[in-house]
Amino acid sequence: MTQFICTNGTIQKVKRAIGLAGQKNKAVFRKLAEMFGEQWTGDRDHGKRLVKRFVLEKHPTWKESRATRPPMPDPRGDDFLMSYGWRKLRMEVLVERGPTCECCGANAQRDRVKMNIDHIKPRRLFPELALVKENLQVLCDPCNHGKGNWDQTDWRERDATAPDPMRPRLVKKDGAA
Ligand SMILES: [Zn+2]
Repeated sequence: MTQFICTNGTIQKVKRAIGLAGQKNKAVFRKLAEMFGEQWTGDRDHGKRLVKRFVLEKHPTWKESRATRPPMPDPRGDDFLMSYGWRKLRMEVLVERGPTCECCGANAQRDRVKMNIDHIKPRRLFPELALVKENLQVLCDPCNHGKGNWDQTDWRERDATAPDPMRPRLVKKDGAA
């Protein structure tokens, strides 16, 4: 049997399904016990078992949808860019660092340029680093286009004295051309 994890999200979902959204977990557990003709012990673990039973018996597809989510595609292929895992991570990086090119300083809104999340060490050569945040940098379209698999420059190094922490330092970290 596959593993079932009763997360807070699962409990919220069950609450909505039985019309108890916004109610306390206890109210949900009690209601489920009633539905199944069980005596609720007031124990949280028992409550979780009731949630599990409810999902498995009444909404087995909830579980399936998670179990059948396609596995992470090979980071070296193009399917990787369409995967949920990559899109989520890429959004996180954009939100954390802002839509400003870490190479030339161009800004998505101000300069109307598209931002890319670039793999410093290319995913085709280092697939194991494809989902490692430290291996990612924000690059504008022109900077990203100019960068090929041969270039692994880390542009994220910033001038600590710059007033704007988002302003990138416009020299390469290692001083090389
Ligand atoms: Zn740029």
